[in-house]
Amino acid sequence: MMNQDCLFCKIIAGKIPSAKVYEDELVYAFKDITPIAPVHYLFVPKTHICCAKKINAENSNYIASIFEAIAKVAENENLDSYRVINNCGEDAGQSVMHLHFHMVAGKKMGWGEQSLG
Ligand code: AMP
Ligand code: ZN
Repeated sequence: MMNQDCLFCKIIAGKIPSAKVYEDELVYAFKDITPIAPVHYLFVPKTHICCAKKINAENSNYIASIFEAIAKVAENENLDSYRVINNCGEDAGQSVMHLHFHMVAGKKMGWGEQSLG
């Protein structure tokens, strides 16, 4: 199910342009418009799930497919190291309310407070 007012639903439907990096039956992936690293992709389920809080037994096949897709893209692009990030909720920095996983790579990354901006 898609949501008429959702930015990422519109991107999946092709109503708003994006730089696609991967697509299958359940998953769409595209370049983040404001990259925080040389490689910064967003992986989204092709159904409207607002956030990680709403992952359940009925829709978790989308999540499995997203992580399979991330592994495929990493292999295709020879990404030896990468970070997968999900921001869930406003305080965590979620700005688009359609579940997405950031795949970030191509630079040495810190850990802890300094990596949280
Ligand atoms: P978050 O802050 O975790 O909700 O991540 C939302 C991400 O979506 C941000 O990193 C934005 O740069 C990215 N973003 C917003 N609009 C677009 C767009 N039209 N195309 C690609 N990425 C976008
Ligand atoms: Zn949506």
